[in-house]
Amino acid sequence: MSPDAAQNLIHLTYLVAVALFILALKWLSSPATARHGVLGGEIGAALAVVATLAGAEVIEYKWVVAALVAGAVVGVPLGLVPMTAVPQRTALSHAFGALAAALVGSAEYYARLPNVSRFGMAEIALEVIIGSLTLTGSMIAAGKLQEILPQRPITFRGQNLVSLSVLGAAVAIAVALVVHPENTQLFPVMVAVALLFGALLVTPIGGADMPTVISLLNSYAGLSAALLGFVLNSKVLVVAGALDGSSGFILSVIMCRAMNRSFTNVMFGAFGQVEATAAAAEEKRPVRSATPEEAAAILASASKVIIVPGYGMAVAQAQHKVRELYDAMTKRGVDVKFGIHPVAGRMPGHMNVLLAEADIPYDKLLDMETVNGEFPETDVALVIGANDVTNPAARLDRSSPIYGMPILDVDKARTAMVIKRSLNPGFAGIDNPLYYLDKTLMLFGDAKAFVAGIVHELGGHGHP
Ligand code: NDP
Repeated sequence: MSPDAAQNLIHLTYLVAVALFILALKWLSSPATARHGVLGGEIGAALAVVATLAGAEVIEYKWVVAALVAGAVVGVPLGLVPMTAVPQRTALSHAFGALAAALVGSAEYYARLPNVSRFGMAEIALEVIIGSLTLTGSMIAAGKLQEILPQRPITFRGQNLVSLSVLGAAVAIAVALVVHPENTQLFPVMVAVALLFGALLVTPIGGADMPTVISLLNSYAGLSAALLGFVLNSKVLVVAGALDGSSGFILSVIMCRAMNRSFTNVMFGAFGQVEATAAAAEEKRPVRSATPEEAAAILASASKVIIVPGYGMAVAQAQHKVRELYDAMTKRGVDVKFGIHPVAGRMPGHMNVLLAEADIPYDKLLDMETVNGEFPETDVALVIGANDVTNPAARLDRSSPIYGMPILDVDKARTAMVIKRSLNPGFAGIDNPLYYLDKTLMLFGDAKAFVAGIVHELGGHGHP
């Protein structure tokens, strides 16, 4: 094949890869086509890698193979983490992507010396700053989600001023480098200051805001990849980075809306800084509880039930038992639906993925806006391992840190039943007044075992 023909084939492959990336995003937007989306994205990425490796710029494959092996050694175990750990795994992926962008940008700077153009320097500096801050920000986010670092916001007086000054310093050094690119001693200082800013950016943000922060970091990682595409003159990297950056940004906007938060509030509000003692004091109030037998009797006599799953269902891996419960109740003529909160669980779409795995029909999964109108006509709202997303304090208590966050109105159903192991708070660390209402029955126990107990009583397969 002539060099020109080979070059054309490479460009054609890039075009197919980019088309697959766009289709993947489209397919991922519905549970019915999400699997195609994942496959399309994987094939697109594989094509882009193969086309890049076939390019004339690669002079030796030895190091490429070594890097592929090293990447696989780290990547395969990361891909096998349990689903509940996917948010922190995603944060680590952003960290690796950002590290790669920052390293390649730095290598490009040193390789071009002493002839770095001012425009080229501006591109490199911007890309390396965003890559570096995304690296440390993502690592802190992963540490918080893995609970290696405290989940509560860590704040000090004048924090926002300090953070913005550090960012200002990184930008000032970048400007100095654009004016004098040959000033090599400034480059590592700029990288260090940007790394510090990333850490300062995420440390004061509390656990409840991590979903938004992760997808925002996703958009930063995409942005640094797109900028790297400009530095390396790689169109596929520009497009893939732009798609990654914009979809991450759109997701963070959707999540901010789901939690009724503004971006500035998420980034600078130190949300989730709650007095642990307040939650502990509330635990002394009396609650009503029930056994699986009693719960089964109430469910069997209901005509309409809405199941609200949350993080606890994921931890207990109770989705298959929930499917059995759905079958047993439907067989008895009960109308059963599922109410899905956009931030239930620990990642966007978490509940949809689990319930799809258990083959629960998609048309029974209702989003928050649709299902909320149905609670007043519902006999039983059965909450399975959800807490924050059902907390009426968000609607009623102006002093609550989650005031204004849209919730699933389970307290409006005739009876609310809540399966969880204790009265402990959920992710936001705050007490839930739902548990102390007269209409609420607490079903204390592990989600999987308790649901199995109910199924058993209803005459299904389940056994406690
Ligand atoms: P929560 O974290 O509010 O509550 C989950 C509840 O599950 C806990 O109170 C816990 O109570 C219970 N639980 C844990 N293990 C079990 C078990 N084995 N069996 C039964 N119950 C169990 O979850 P929600 O889904 O209601 O809300 C999600 C929260 O996570 C929100 O605050 C959201 O902002 C945040 N978040 C969401 C992300 C997303 O993208 N979806 C990402 C990161 C955070 P107990 O200990 O008493 O059993």
